[in-house]
Amino acid sequence: MAIVIIRQDDKIELWKKALLTKDPDLEVYGYQENHPKEKIEMALVWKHPNGALVDYPNLKLIASSGAGVDFIIEDETAPKNLPITRVVDDMLAKDMSEHVLAVILSHLKNLDQYKINQIKGIWKPMQYHRISDFTVGIMGMGALGKELATDLVKYGFKVRGWANSEKNIDNVTCYAGASGFDDFLKTAQILVCLLPLTDETSGILNKKLFKKLPRNAYVINVARGGHMVDEDLLEMLNNGHLSGAGLDVYHQEPIPKEHPFWSHEKIQMTPHYASVSDTNSVVPQILDNYERLIKGKKLLNEVVMHRGY
Ligand code: NDP
Repeated sequence: MAIVIIRQDDKIELWKKALLTKDPDLEVYGYQENHPKEKIEMALVWKHPNGALVDYPNLKLIASSGAGVDFIIEDETAPKNLPITRVVDDMLAKDMSEHVLAVILSHLKNLDQYKINQIKGIWKPMQYHRISDFTVGIMGMGALGKELATDLVKYGFKVRGWANSEKNIDNVTCYAGASGFDDFLKTAQILVCLLPLTDETSGILNKKLFKKLPRNAYVINVARGGHMVDEDLLEMLNNGHLSGAGLDVYHQEPIPKEHPFWSHEKIQMTPHYASVSDTNSVVPQILDNYERLIKGKKLLNEVVMHRGY
């Protein structure tokens, strides 16, 4: 039995070392090194090259080393009948919560605009906003959305959440499904997308949705670029309906140089780094699942294939 790590960034050695530190007896390979393909039973993947999963005749589990699995589901060459697992991790959730809080506060206190003014040499005091005046709507109340909601309540925001199923979270007004969507949107002065990217949620951040938000709403997308209809966002920012957007994720990453988001004064961009799996925090659950696989036990954090998340 062996594990292969497949990813295109420079973190293969980091993951390998983290796995071997926890269990020195493991047989682990990076996909670019020579390795016995018939021995591989688990692939630990992050944005693997399409086609990289076809060569493993005895593969039994595809484990994402992050929270998202959309890149696995979108890979048409990936074996179809294998379980897929993902990461659910307190540190990942806390990092995301801190990132979103930073973006919200930057907007409320005009820090994004002051930075632009500073570079232009403009001294211009602007009215700031208070946390207590703001309602934040969170789309997706899963591992990350729930943590964010709870944190924002502690800071004094009014918080609303929207998910597929009903939720009961202290001091958070929760809405579910299509029937609750318009009520959820109409008071969301700040909208945060933390949905998984599925057939149902692709393109959900569009003009129709933006029009249902209160005027001057601010939109934060930290989920996936595929949720956003870029032209609709630009139109709603340019006609003044939306006051701004904080984006961490894009249709194409890195976002092409000529994309209008780069130079838009109302858009605050970060390079898909809101929250990243910390190997030390995440490796124990990866190894736990590997052991469960070997022993034929129920896997942790398994994707429900018909839902796509
Ligand atoms: P979860 O699977 O734990 O939560 C997903 C939530 O979305 C659930 O509450 C689910 O509802 C809800 N949902 C799914 N589909 C729909 C739908 N059609 N309508 C309404 N609600 C829906 O995901 P995580 O919280 O772990 O992660 C969320 C996303 O964040 C990831 O998929 C990834 O794309 C992104 N991410 C981004 C990072 C970054 O650095 N930018 C880092 C990590 C993650 P229910 O609870 O009822 O099932």
